[in-house]
Amino acid sequence: MRIQVAINEGVLAVQVGDKSISLDPKRDSNSDFTFVSHAHTDHLSLRKKKRNVSRKILASQATAVIANFRGHDLETPIDIPEEYNLVDTGHILGSRGFLIPDELFYTGDISMRDRAFLKGVKPPRAKNLIVESTFARPEYVFPSLEKCVHETNELISKMYSRGIPLILMGYPLGKAQLLTEFFRHWDPLIVHESVHEMNSVYRQLGIPLKEGMTFSQAKENGMIQRGVPWIMISPFMSRSAEFIKTMKSSCNAVTVGFTGWATRARFRQVMGLDYAIPVSDHCDCNELLEIVRYCNPEKVYTIHGFADYLATRLRTLGYEAEPLMSQNKRKGNGSHQIRKIPHSKNQSLIDSYFS
Ligand SMILES: [Zn+2]
Ligand SMILES: [Zn+2]
Repeated sequence: MRIQVAINEGVLAVQVGDKSISLDPKRDSNSDFTFVSHAHTDHLSLRKKKRNVSRKILASQATAVIANFRGHDLETPIDIPEEYNLVDTGHILGSRGFLIPDELFYTGDISMRDRAFLKGVKPPRAKNLIVESTFARPEYVFPSLEKCVHETNELISKMYSRGIPLILMGYPLGKAQLLTEFFRHWDPLIVHESVHEMNSVYRQLGIPLKEGMTFSQAKENGMIQRGVPWIMISPFMSRSAEFIKTMKSSCNAVTVGFTGWATRARFRQVMGLDYAIPVSDHCDCNELLEIVRYCNPEKVYTIHGFADYLATRLRTLGYEAEPLMSQNKRKGNGSHQIRKIPHSKNQSLIDSYFS
């Protein structure tokens, strides 16, 4: 089967026989099908759909529900044509890779690790592999999840014994729900309003997350005061955010950030976090190579983050590999690169770095 992979006017698309499929396009294209791997904003079109234009969406139902909840006008996914498969990629709830058996696998964002209600991917074999490369550089090796959760539990325990609350920060879609699940046994469990909303979407989709209480409920209950320990699941906020400044001055709260970028030695300090734990929803550099080995492709295309680096590394290992310039990179606002860690007060900018 002849497969052509190309980026046309910023849209990644594959041509398979007489059909074209655009992959996570940031804008509408004329392809026959539009595949949406998951509901993070860097994989979704920000535009409203054009009237009377059917994009024939290939995606999981969960992705459509979450995307629409986040304000994207994503049409109902069509029934998957029998020549295509969607593969659970274990990145967030509903995340899928696009597979034409034996021929093509596009990973979207991908994780090999089982994490609470998420199952790590079992990569399929395919002659052509398009693989994400967010954490492809050799400095990104993540410790085991068990170790990270254990260390965090010990930290919470230590802080509780001193009456100190903790703000556990992660990306509000995906990471925050895992944090809610990992640390559900701690009381009181407070969830930031934005996390509370997304947690209820997950519950609607069948993931029985603990409800906890919102920050305003906790405040009404008189829990936000010095000497009263709690944990709060929150989006990433910079040290200069008013909320963090208030929590530090009023109740001595400590902040803990959860992201793969925490592998970088200076990340914690630059972000102004008290603690940083390298829990990621992506593969680390070794796992990316493992994906490629499992898939056993004749040709690899790398996309997002360190795409050039991964392609070069794969060529030294004997693979035919080529980087694809990411759509985000062209626009210069990619969430899969961390050229400069933001000090910004702009929450959406901060969020965009940690998806
Ligand atoms: Zn993602
Ligand atoms: Zn992404």
